[in-house]
Amino acid sequence: MAVYRGSVCRLCRREGKKLMLKGERCKSEKCSFDRRPFPPGLRTTKRRRTSSEYDTQLREKQKIRRIYGVLEKQFRLYFQKAARQEGVTGESLLILLESRFDNVVFRLGLAPSRNAARQLVLHNHFLLNGKKANIPSQQVAEGDVIQVKEKSKNLNIIHESLRLAKDIPDWLTIDKVKLTGSMVRKPDRGSIPMDIQEQLVVELYSK
Ligand code: SF4
Repeated sequence: MAVYRGSVCRLCRREGKKLMLKGERCKSEKCSFDRRPFPPGLRTTKRRRTSSEYDTQLREKQKIRRIYGVLEKQFRLYFQKAARQEGVTGESLLILLESRFDNVVFRLGLAPSRNAARQLVLHNHFLLNGKKANIPSQQVAEGDVIQVKEKSKNLNIIHESLRLAKDIPDWLTIDKVKLTGSMVRKPDRGSIPMDIQEQLVVELYSK
């Protein structure tokens, strides 16, 4: 599976926004964006050029893609799938991304960031509906149950993350003792608390 292996803080600086890709570090004074809030390669906050409509749409698409850690080709497939669904395409796109297994693990508070969640999933630390599940992009459906495997229940990263987790979305539930969570309903746009303009992606891909 292809993944981005460069500096994730660089992505925040490129997008001119804190994308919160490193969990607790993002809230600390170690955040690179807080220290250098300008694009990589520049030494000031001034942009090289004024942004066009296309630029704005492209940057929004890149921002969403980077938040969820999805490469271009896969992102386009998500968009195509969303476009085939009934309803607002931009919202369907976000719901598909939110329903990824790695994102659900992150949202449940079982990992400090989506990157960490992806690694934990890849390393086989969870069961989905009682079965082995190690594909980060797998879609989680309403009613699905996610458990930390017995052998992984002592993992410090999971306990520390759960200790710090505050805002578990209302479409998920978590039992912090049994280390088991479930999707009680599909997420909707209102329950995805992110400053994202998904409509710009639809406009970009509709050109
Ligand atoms: Fe972005 Fe987090 Fe790195 Fe700050 S610490 S630049 S918010 S990934």
